[in-house]
Amino acid sequence: MAIYTCGHTTPDSDSICSALSLAYLLNKIGKPAIPARQGPVSPETQFILDRFGFDAPELKTEFAGCELFITDYSDRGQAPADLDKATVVGIVDHHKLGDITTSTPLECWIRPVGCTNTIVKEMYDFHGVEIPKNIAGIMLCAILSDTVIFKSPTCTETDIKAVKELAKIAEVEDFGALGMEMFKVKSAVEGVPVRDLILRDYKPFDMHGKKVGIGQLEVIDLAIFDSVKDELQADLDKLRTEEGLHTACLLLTDIMKEGSEVLVSSEDASIFEKAFDVKLENSKVWLYGCLSRKKQIIPFLEPAFA
Ligand code: MG
Ligand code: MG
Ligand code: MG
Repeated sequence: MAIYTCGHTTPDSDSICSALSLAYLLNKIGKPAIPARQGPVSPETQFILDRFGFDAPELKTEFAGCELFITDYSDRGQAPADLDKATVVGIVDHHKLGDITTSTPLECWIRPVGCTNTIVKEMYDFHGVEIPKNIAGIMLCAILSDTVIFKSPTCTETDIKAVKELAKIAEVEDFGALGMEMFKVKSAVEGVPVRDLILRDYKPFDMHGKKVGIGQLEVIDLAIFDSVKDELQADLDKLRTEEGLHTACLLLTDIMKEGSEVLVSSEDASIFEKAFDVKLENSKVWLYGCLSRKKQIIPFLEPAFA
């Protein structure tokens, strides 16, 4: 039976590229594997796949009876609904340890680095498997995306070293330019329905029994949101009601100014205010220096619900 490699719901570039890079590695070490994805391919990911000549992995949302190697998450909220009927054979991830449990022993590669593909690179090195040029290309892009071209506080020396090695293999001379090209594609949000923007990079969490949803849009210039900000806020309120969330947030991240404007919709906004020691104005606030949801939002917001 083949193992499915698959990242989180609302997949980002890391989830999709790690499913592909990990499946190739597993196949090479004699474990038949098929890459999969739990949702649509974002414009940024499509750019990466086109650039290095890949088709998107198969769309798959039901895993009952399957073997699954999870990439880029370990929270149940981001897993397939029928996870309990699947066998999790492994996890490779760079987030906080989530609430997934297993009934059989599994392989775990969990490290505090900037990107899952950085860890997959370590797995290739561990197994002594050569990384093909096009796989190196998508891994490289995923690391540049997750680390916001090394600007994110989640970025480590290990990520930078991996990027340099992968760029050599992929024959990418100027990875910084490739990263900017990628973020330009990511910044093209004109004409996209507001709900699609909120859900483009959205993660649901259980914070001490309260449902919290956090979306993030990383762009080169926040001004592109000026005309739709009110609409985004109104739709965030709507999403919160529809999904029964206690709090819904949307991070509008300016990767050049290196900060995020956070739109907040909450049953009790004082929890958010307390968590970040800020006062919301018109339900939003600018958080200077905030680029990372996993390192600069969740570790503060989650304890505030305790
Ligand atoms: Mg991810
Ligand atoms: Mg990631
Ligand atoms: Mg990200």
